[in-house]
Amino acid sequence: MNCIIIMDEHGRILHINDAFKNAFGFNEEDLIGRHIRILFTEQDRQALRPEMELSLVKKQGFSSDQNYTMHKNGQSIWVSGESVWVESKEHGNCIVKVIQNIHSQKLQEKFLKETNEFSHTIFESIEDALLVVNMDMIILKANAALYRMFGLQASTLEGTHLPALDEQLNMGLRMNDKLKKLEYDGSFSDELQWSIPGGNHRTLRLNGRFLAQDAEQEKRILLLFHDISQQKQSEQQREDLINFVSHELRNPMANLALVLELLPEAVTSNNIPETEDYLEKAKVNLRRLKQVIGELHDVTRAGTGNLTVQKASFNLQGVIREAIDTVRMLHPSHQVIAPQEADVTVQADRFRLVQVLNNYLTNAIKYSPGADKVVMNVSRDNGFLVVSVKDFGPGIPADQLPHVFNKYYRGQSTVKIDGIGLGLYVCKEIIYAHGGQVWAVSEEGRGSTFFFSLPAS
Ligand code: ADP
Repeated sequence: MNCIIIMDEHGRILHINDAFKNAFGFNEEDLIGRHIRILFTEQDRQALRPEMELSLVKKQGFSSDQNYTMHKNGQSIWVSGESVWVESKEHGNCIVKVIQNIHSQKLQEKFLKETNEFSHTIFESIEDALLVVNMDMIILKANAALYRMFGLQASTLEGTHLPALDEQLNMGLRMNDKLKKLEYDGSFSDELQWSIPGGNHRTLRLNGRFLAQDAEQEKRILLLFHDISQQKQSEQQREDLINFVSHELRNPMANLALVLELLPEAVTSNNIPETEDYLEKAKVNLRRLKQVIGELHDVTRAGTGNLTVQKASFNLQGVIREAIDTVRMLHPSHQVIAPQEADVTVQADRFRLVQVLNNYLTNAIKYSPGADKVVMNVSRDNGFLVVSVKDFGPGIPADQLPHVFNKYYRGQSTVKIDGIGLGLYVCKEIIYAHGGQVWAVSEEGRGSTFFFSLPAS
């Protein structure tokens, strides 16, 4: 079955068998009497490989190698060849060369090598952290992203034990449960809360599956860690927002619906005080709806960088007066004491400034239900005008104070009071757009003071 060539000691071909003829497309006329070189590739001929092979077989009695042999049609075919030196007084010395076609084996090797390189490149360049472990939880492979994600020194994990890594990093892997699921379903997916040093934690999605294997290979598991903290955070924010919005819109809507239902009867029976009362309630609820929708709109604009301000010059006192009048009408429970020194010109967006003042004043009243006054002040500080609104409410605990200007932030003790945690965030964005600052000081039990500054013109 093997291909055989017999040649003389100089390499001239004397005989080829049928297997060779079939495999390489030659017949006797093509080769007999020709030098063996004809079967080598151009490159091998230039490298004098035929001559080297002949001299080796003459010297040591045999030689073997793997190289290309030319098919008659010009194709190079990978072969493994073994040549033996045969001495014969009768027929003269000759060389017998046995050739095996290993082309498909070589192609397969090449394909495997390329596939390995390909998967290695993917493994290393993928953004998600990857680990390959065996069934004893020994780490066989870890990619660059994994070392990056967990802040580990490169190439330190191979050969170590996964539970030790789990303990070191405090990931809460609980691989035993996952292995059961893996055996049962062929894959698993889970979320991990990874506590990172410094008190923070991240949410990781962990996917696991068996790697493809053949019968002799040991079972290996591929673990993929994907950091979904950001996605979780925005999901949570979206959910919170929907909750807020539905809650904050539902209440005034329900009130409005009720008022509108009761109003006709009051009108028909000509009950003026009741009619007026219902109309007032309708107005309050409508105002609340308008405010929630306005704040949501502003937040979206701030998020997309579209909360722009249109500055003009005007007197601060007039604007403060306007804001106080509005608040006074809506909240007669509190007296708002106007500032002394507000007779100054500012360069600002009038409409937006009223919005900020309204927000500060409304919060001061809303969050101090037991008090009866709010004090405003205007001062100058280092080229800035500083406006403050002081209330005499319960104040804000020190650990919550740094968060009051954050998006969606609501103080723990004030969740029962109407609000969606966006007013101060929008104020901050408006004041930043003017080149100013916002801040607050508070003393528990004594009240809070909210400040904003504007560049003095
Ligand atoms: P909202 O009033 O709609 O909740 P804000 O952004 O205006 O949203 O306020 C955020 C949070 O800051 C409030 O929920 C409240 O807990 C707290 N806060 C704001 N102003 C005051 C204040 N004057 N006194 C006490 N807490 C306040």
